[in-house]
Amino acid sequence: MRAVVYKEPHQVEVEEVDDARIEDPTDVVIKVTTAAICGSDLHMYEGRTGAEAGIVFGHENMGVVEEVGSGVASLKKGDRVSIPFNVACGFCKNCLAGKTGFCLTVNEGFAGGAYGYVSMGPYRGGQAEYLRVPFADFNCLPLPEGDQHERDFAMLSDIFPTGYHAATMAQVSPGETVAVYGGGPVGLMAAYSSLIKGASRVFLVDKVPSRLDLAEKIGAIPVNFAEVDPVEVITDQTAGEGTDKGIDAVGYQATVSEGEEQPAIVLNQLVHTVRPTGRLGVVGLYVPSDPGAPDENAAEGKLLFEIGKFFEKGQTIGTGQADVKAYNRQLRDLIIAGRAEPGFVVSKELPLEGAPEAYERFDKREEGYSKVLLHPWE
Ligand code: NAD
Ligand code: ZN
Repeated sequence: MRAVVYKEPHQVEVEEVDDARIEDPTDVVIKVTTAAICGSDLHMYEGRTGAEAGIVFGHENMGVVEEVGSGVASLKKGDRVSIPFNVACGFCKNCLAGKTGFCLTVNEGFAGGAYGYVSMGPYRGGQAEYLRVPFADFNCLPLPEGDQHERDFAMLSDIFPTGYHAATMAQVSPGETVAVYGGGPVGLMAAYSSLIKGASRVFLVDKVPSRLDLAEKIGAIPVNFAEVDPVEVITDQTAGEGTDKGIDAVGYQATVSEGEEQPAIVLNQLVHTVRPTGRLGVVGLYVPSDPGAPDENAAEGKLLFEIGKFFEKGQTIGTGQADVKAYNRQLRDLIIAGRAEPGFVVSKELPLEGAPEAYERFDKREEGYSKVLLHPWE
């Protein structure tokens, strides 16, 4: 089958690889209808993670069940399903508590597994014609038949639940103000989710004009950090108090992005932006090791966090991978009910062969390459 394969920093290719197949009785194999490219793929693509050549990328997958293992009870050939980016067993201590992003079974020695991701276990990605899904009864979310809402449903495997997770960790409540740093697809979904949860005003900080435009379209207030100091502007607009809640959808990449005006971690800006006793939700990735980091400390994932300011303000924080299964059923039903259209973030749909160019242009945050969907069978 054809698949998007990582070759070396800044290079992926579409190549023939071994077919996906049933390996355990609890597996299914799906025929992938849509696989999205994610900002998380760029950490590997840019060569910051030490990912080895040969990884098939793709953790944002949906499709139709093609083959069913003998131990699978709830699925049959032809079922349309969304696959959470977390690979999870469903029976360990964390999965039972809904913390499927930290499954203790699927990735020996680590908490949590994912498809097509370095250090997240032996699970091949879905930017390919077919994908093997382990513990399929647990990991497949059923979708209505047909091809309706394909763009919206494609957001259910990662970024819509991740944005919602950010707002949930920040405990966004009706009427509150929220500051979101990062207007990539994840930040946009965090702003969108905060509005769904009833926030009165959501500020979204980025510098890419098309991303700020999208923020405005969904009812958030864009703040361009290349033009103004976001902490000052947002503090001003919240009567000098700061926002009730804050979300980091940038992560450690702010420290390594070339030419950034503010190369420090945005988490510190959030501490200054959010009011005393406010709460922060962090979904932007911070990694325990970053071989491509500019200095020795950063290479070990040690970044300077203003704990003094954070303590003085009595703030609290939630961090980590999103537990997609904790949210994807309800978010699917919001889409079906016509109450959410997360597909607004999609800017390009391409056949698999478009992947190499799409990676290159998404990596440069080019106009029109905010969220790219790949369709392996078109
Ligand atoms: P992205 O790289 O497209 O978005 C990041 C955005 O941050 C860009 O638009 C960039 O312009 C902006 N930015 C950079 N420096 C900034 C600064 N100083 N202030 C404000 N904005 C700044 O990627 P994405 O797909 O939106 O993903 C964002 C992050 O979320 C990545 O780190 C990704 O790995 C992570 N992620 C986490 C989870 C999870 O489960 N926790 C899931 C998916 C993605
Ligand atoms: Zn993703």
